[in-house]
Amino acid sequence: MATYDFDLFVIGAGSGGVRASRWAARYGAKVAVADDDRLGGTCVNRGCIPKKLYAYASHFHEDFEDAVGFGWDKAAPKFDWSRLVAAKEKEITRLNGIYAKLLDGSGVARIDGRVTVEGPHEVKVSGKAYTARTILVATGGHPHRPEIPGAELGIVSDDAFDLPKLPKRIVILGGGYIALEFAGIFAGLGVETTLVYRQTLPLRGFDEDVRKHVAAEIAKKGIAVRAGVNLTKLERKGSGMLAHTTANDTIEADIVMFATGREPNTKGLGLEKAGVKLGKNGEVVVDEYSRSSVESIYAIGDVTDRIALTPVALHEAMCMAETLFNNNPTKVDHADVAAAVFSQPTVSVVGLTEEEARKRVGRVDIYRTSFKPLKHTLSGRDERTMMKMVVDAASGRVLGCHMVGEDAAEIIQGMAIAVKMGATKADFDRTIGIHPTAAEEFVTLRDKMPDPVPKAAE
Ligand code: NDP
Repeated sequence: MATYDFDLFVIGAGSGGVRASRWAARYGAKVAVADDDRLGGTCVNRGCIPKKLYAYASHFHEDFEDAVGFGWDKAAPKFDWSRLVAAKEKEITRLNGIYAKLLDGSGVARIDGRVTVEGPHEVKVSGKAYTARTILVATGGHPHRPEIPGAELGIVSDDAFDLPKLPKRIVILGGGYIALEFAGIFAGLGVETTLVYRQTLPLRGFDEDVRKHVAAEIAKKGIAVRAGVNLTKLERKGSGMLAHTTANDTIEADIVMFATGREPNTKGLGLEKAGVKLGKNGEVVVDEYSRSSVESIYAIGDVTDRIALTPVALHEAMCMAETLFNNNPTKVDHADVAAAVFSQPTVSVVGLTEEEARKRVGRVDIYRTSFKPLKHTLSGRDERTMMKMVVDAASGRVLGCHMVGEDAAEIIQGMAIAVKMGATKADFDRTIGIHPTAAEEFVTLRDKMPDPVPKAAE
């Protein structure tokens, strides 16, 4: 039998790569993980973690205002961007250290440098060759820039965390996760923010009621929304920028940020040379076990362009380790993955949208509520929470829970367990709520929305 330097060679020490390395090592495999950047990948260094920290930072602005309704004097504290950047940096450095400790503690060899795949069992890192029984590609993705003149003048989310100073005006292009999250962050920090997206509503693919509700709430935050518009060109104007739009006008800003999707990191990796099939976006095409077209090469996480979420990459990593190193073939399960967009307010969902459910099961019952949260009865803030439940009319099974509002992600995480377990509306109904919370609304939804009028009858 062939002998290899490692049982598993992992390319990329992001969330998925690190989890796969540790899990495989736990099952006794000899593992190496290589990366040419800080440990932790996108999520830790320029994604989930710093983004959520910045979202907290930006929300204080509203908290100070809201406090007045509760008897506090009006405060006008000053915000210092450089202090936030430094605090974020310190925390991320701490997390990088934790990742290193976890890997070292699991006996995983850490290799620093850029990897190329040389064959089904061979990689090179900075000129040095290694062999492995299995190679795992966990190289993540990078932000996409639209192909418009002057695109190089814009920034992407990677750059947004460490801007030398907070801009006065920003234009953000995109209507997805990153665009909405950064629009909330910058607006909360006092930046004059314009959000430009080409659809009539943001968050394509989300439930229509969610899209409408979040669009209305965002507008209340003072974000200037340009819906149904795209950017056609960027040019410098003084120390700032001029963004030309498809509406034949221009928007002036200090910074233009593109949040127009992400692309898999496969370029220059040498995967094609090893015979690995790539998809039309450059993603590694894999089967249900995350195996590529080459038997000894697997891929997980954003590089496979399935569901680009950290917890999904972790799940894919563990399935791979189970399959290969614990003699327990485990398919990845991408059904009913809960997700959150940390916009302000937060959007969080699990399961099917109303549109998807109607297509899948035919008749559905819809329960929906929209209300002013208790806190805002005294704060006076004009913010409404929306919750929606999609139920299979025949079986009563809850197919989807959707929420826009404070703490939505914290609430939907619990709903996700119920949805995953196949809970019915009757199960929700016999659950006693916690009062007073927003979450209790999910167990007190009683009135079905009227069925939509068929098009011909309108
Ligand atoms: P998304 O796919 O969420 O959104 C991309 C947006 O850019 C869409 O509104 C899209 O419009 C628009 N767009 C794409 N191409 C162009 C173009 N050429 N011109 C104008 N607009 C364009 O991508 P993100 O970059 O926001 O995030 C990438 C992924 O990362 C997410 O899908 C998610 O999986 C993950 N992520 C998760 C987060 C979380 O869990 N909280 C946070 C951030 C990212 P259209 O709809 O018309 O195509």
